Amino acid sequence: PKPLAGRVALVTGAASGIGKAIATRLAAEGACVVIADLNLESAQAAAAEIGGTDVAIGVQANVTEENQVQASVDAAVLAFGGLDLVVNNAGLSLSKSLLETTVADWDLQHNVMAKGSFLVSRAAARVLIDQKLGGDIVYISSKNSVFAGPNNIAYSATKADQAHQVRLLAAELGEHGVKVNGINPDGVVRGSGIFSSGWGAKRAAVYGVPEDELGAYYAQRTLLKREVLPENVANAVFALCSNDLSHTTGLHIPVDAGVAAA
Ligand code: NAD
Repeated sequence: PKPLAGRVALVTGAASGIGKAIATRLAAEGACVVIADLNLESAQAAAAEIGGTDVAIGVQANVTEENQVQASVDAAVLAFGGLDLVVNNAGLSLSKSLLETTVADWDLQHNVMAKGSFLVSRAAARVLIDQKLGGDIVYISSKNSVFAGPNNIAYSATKADQAHQVRLLAAELGEHGVKVNGINPDGVVRGSGIFSSGWGAKRAAVYGVPEDELGAYYAQRTLLKREVLPENVANAVFALCSNDLSHTTGLHIPVDAGVAAA
């Protein structure tokens, strides 16, 4: 059998980008996946690309809304009989400096990523604890949770909040066999909606490179001189959820081709 056969995954923000790559990889390894995203049609389209409704379903869920988060957890249990793997991936980046950041910007960043992942983890943990089968919660945090970059205070602060949720939940859920880990990606330009929705242009301006060379720019400042792709982040999620990392919790894995280590 495939390594994740019989497991059910919920991935937030999985209609595009890194989340879609994660859902695709988990399904390829045998899991059934629920794709939760803001727009029902794009969530369902991503699910249909992955497989039939016996393998993947798309649901509408704004992670800032408690009832929509609960409904997406309920959808996993209803469609696939349980929940085992939860990926807090939904996010956005406004890429603003301190002086540019409005209260509304601050609230949006924190609502989607800090509050949103709290709501998802809480709703999911109730099921994971009841099932008594252990499980995994993975946070797609960021290199920015640890390292300061310019012009991104609200994003980076809420990524640091997520990183501490990882440590706190690893401590609290460990006795239930639930592992909680994070991934710190950096520089995923190709395939990322964050970059195409204006962030890329702002980062390119900060670094003084043309926007279409941003991927190459990020690659050349890594230790490995490699561009990071959504699939590389998905590989790390699979590793955390596989039995090979059965004794690893409270950890953050960089997927940045070595930027954070440089
Ligand atoms: P993306 O824009 O392609 O994907 C983000 C997804 O989240 C979208 O499908 C969007 O609709 C969804 N989303 C946004 N707000 C939501 C909400 N309130 N409720 C539900 N879904 C919501 O961007 P991406 O680059 O794939 O980013 C995915 C995650 O990876 C984010 O958390 C991001 O912060 C993190 N990350 C990305 C990079 C990178 O280099 N691209 C680096 C570090 C961390």
